[in-house]
Amino acid sequence: MSKYDLDTLCVQGGYTPGNGEPRQIPIVQSTTFRYATSEDMGKLFDLEASGYFYTRLQNPTNDYVAAKICELEGGTAAMLTSSGQAANFFALFNIACAGDHLVCSSSIYGGTFNLISVTMARMGIETTFVRPDCTWEELDAAFRPNTKAVFGETIANPALTVLDIELYAKAAHAHGVPLIVDNTFATPVNCRPFEWGADIVTHSTTKYMDGHGVAVGGAIVDSGRFDWMAHADKFPGLCTPDDSYHGITYAQRFGQEGAFITKCTAQLMRDLGSIQSPQHAFYLNLGLESLHVRMARHCENGQAVAEYLAKHPKIAAVRFCGLPGDPYYALAQKYLPKGSCGVVSFEIKGGREAASAFMKHLKIAAIETHVADARTCCLNPATSTHRQMSDEQLAAAGIPPGMVRMSCGLEHATDLIADIEQALKAVK
Ligand SMILES: *Cc1c(COP(=O)(O)O)cnc(C)c1O
Repeated sequence: MSKYDLDTLCVQGGYTPGNGEPRQIPIVQSTTFRYATSEDMGKLFDLEASGYFYTRLQNPTNDYVAAKICELEGGTAAMLTSSGQAANFFALFNIACAGDHLVCSSSIYGGTFNLISVTMARMGIETTFVRPDCTWEELDAAFRPNTKAVFGETIANPALTVLDIELYAKAAHAHGVPLIVDNTFATPVNCRPFEWGADIVTHSTTKYMDGHGVAVGGAIVDSGRFDWMAHADKFPGLCTPDDSYHGITYAQRFGQEGAFITKCTAQLMRDLGSIQSPQHAFYLNLGLESLHVRMARHCENGQAVAEYLAKHPKIAAVRFCGLPGDPYYALAQKYLPKGSCGVVSFEIKGGREAASAFMKHLKIAAIETHVADARTCCLNPATSTHRQMSDEQLAAAGIPPGMVRMSCGLEHATDLIADIEQALKAVK
């Protein structure tokens, strides 16, 4: 289907029913699949034939939805995972193991930062963090002989920095490793990182792709463009025989297009089992069917709210890359010409007390630890996610006590602004 426009792929990608088959993707609510002979089954276990045998490895519903996300990103293979955390862990762990090293933008989601800097460090994988807008020299200097991947987020959650994907891809490729980009906030509707040189894309589908706050999930997509065999010494997992599959060499058997996702499914999903349930994949697909329509409204509302806040006397600062004064405006114009996302962060004069008073008076926007939902929600990091930090630590992290992160939903912008206006009036 990939010859169609992205809007059409959101609606119809990944699944084309045959004569008399269900119009909507069927939920294959079965853990297992029946075979006539044990020889038939044996071929699946040897990866000689493709087919389903156990939902921990593959399920038709999940495959339809993964195929849609694959088409949306312009990749060659994709898989779903149980969460965005699992997607990022699998994408990295598929090519890095104990004794290896990663280069990572320091401006990433807190959960991913913990995963990489604490849990993966405990597994023997070291990481050098670089500033999101570092120079080529700083980036280049972060690499080591054992570096296996570079990681960043198109639009970082919650800092809203924009990654210079081309620069990061160039550095990664100069050192013979792939660039992995978490494209959760932008979604393929607003940015397709493969077009700028990224090799692997990950998603927390929990956010805009689902978009209704109903199902936690993740996805990994391969561009099929990274030549593993050309750097075979760095990627033995892909380029030398896998003893747990009778000596299959993934990069040879499945080629550049399929090796990464096949290994990730056959090895990591088999052993670590972080599968998305077929029911969740079905919900995710409902979200994807309207992703292009919803993203436009999220961006429009984010822009309207950001512009309103920028002129308000009780607001000290606004961060939204669609505002001409924003430090990431130029990068956003390049990578996100259609818009960024609906998340705006701003600082209310008067610190925590003012932020708390403001949020308490909001009637439409709810206080939630969530973003990218159809319903507008907001959070004051200083009194919630970053509560244990002192004012000095908050300042060092670039989070003023009065900062509010607001995720603009799909309501009418006039109502959102009126809600913000009345709540700001209540702040003394
Ligand atoms: C939420 C989020 C994650 C983690 O995803 P979960 O689905 O919550 O596990 C990873 N990356 C980004 C950018 C996110 O916003």
